[in-house]
Amino acid sequence: MLEVRETASEGRALALADQQRAEAGALLLAEEACVFTVCHYCLEALPPYAGIPCQACPLAWYCCAQHRALDAHHGGASCGVPWPVLLPEQLVLATRLAVVAQVTSRDLVAGLETHVGDVPSHQLFQEAVMCFIAAACAGLEPQLVLKAYRQVVINAIAITPAEHASAEDRMGLAIYPRAAMLNHACSPNVAAAFAGTRLHICATSDLPPGTTLRFCYGPQAGESIREVRLRQLKEQYHFWCRCSACEASYSGVQEAAMIGMKCRLCNGPVVPSIGCGAEMSSEEQIERMARLSQADAAFASACLSLAQHSAVSAETLQSMHFCLEVQEVLLVTSNQVLGRTHDALARAYGPRGDTENAMLHAQKALDIVRSNYGDGHLVVAHQRRRLELLAAGL
Ligand SMILES: [Zn+2]
Ligand SMILES: [Zn+2]
Ligand SMILES: [Zn+2]
Ligand SMILES: [Zn+2]
Repeated sequence: MLEVRETASEGRALALADQQRAEAGALLLAEEACVFTVCHYCLEALPPYAGIPCQACPLAWYCCAQHRALDAHHGGASCGVPWPVLLPEQLVLATRLAVVAQVTSRDLVAGLETHVGDVPSHQLFQEAVMCFIAAACAGLEPQLVLKAYRQVVINAIAITPAEHASAEDRMGLAIYPRAAMLNHACSPNVAAAFAGTRLHICATSDLPPGTTLRFCYGPQAGESIREVRLRQLKEQYHFWCRCSACEASYSGVQEAAMIGMKCRLCNGPVVPSIGCGAEMSSEEQIERMARLSQADAAFASACLSLAQHSAVSAETLQSMHFCLEVQEVLLVTSNQVLGRTHDALARAYGPRGDTENAMLHAQKALDIVRSNYGDGHLVVAHQRRRLELLAAGL
């Protein structure tokens, strides 16, 4: 149902076939991470990040700690130098790709972009030094590691266990050669979900036939402002984003609704040149930021205790409500941070059997994502599903 297209403006792209349409939530692509290896002891196949590495080198992986202990590899002639254990995640993945390429003569990531020509020379020098160390430890050709490293930087996707997972929840990095052909947009029309290390790419809204699929490589529009997104994409992926959310017609209105502060005169978002024109002094900005970070701290500790204890305490609820009150005064009504707080409150009230309050907050979270993303979006569908489950008493 998908096809690879060559386009003049964007190079290679993955798109729906001409006769093929997709509904919101439809599974478009399922792909396994490409670096497979076997347990060094029992030789059973091992997907990446399901195994555990030798404690001294990245060359041997095991299905379990027991097999690692039983294996004579560690400290033996085939055991590498301990350096790679300290190397950055991207370089460890690159080293494993290079090991597979050298040992099996199979280049699993053949044809994936490296953008070597776009990297500033001082940065390329630092990368080459790191790759040289990794190559020396693993007994590999340095240029093999450098090429793999560049491919990892440009193409690797972080494996995260669930929707709305934060950066801290990530389980590791992996390369999915087919998904690597997805182009970027800051308001994407596909989203990633993981089942173990298997990547699922789903439509976030109804897509007409022939649509070019667009995945968001970095923070989405609404998660961070345009200038920050543009800079991050340029630094890591070497292009200036010209997606619809970043285009010249961009006015900041939509972004202000998702991340803005509330104007004390008109209750709309505070944006220079739109809205009522009222401005916020830098003193007021600082004061508001201080109050918001205080609210954030209370929220974070409440979420922590929510995750650690099965019973939800009154203090947890109190902290969340404190946070909500501050945010409702200072942030514009559709700010997604408010949606996050309502969502957490719904999850806190649920286990207490307080369905009424749980549904109230789930409904508010739904209203906010709906106003930000529009009705057909996957995020909205997830939130609606949560509300339905609560209504059904689950
Ligand atoms: Zn094993
Ligand atoms: Zn080892
Ligand atoms: Zn963009
Ligand atoms: Zn105003």
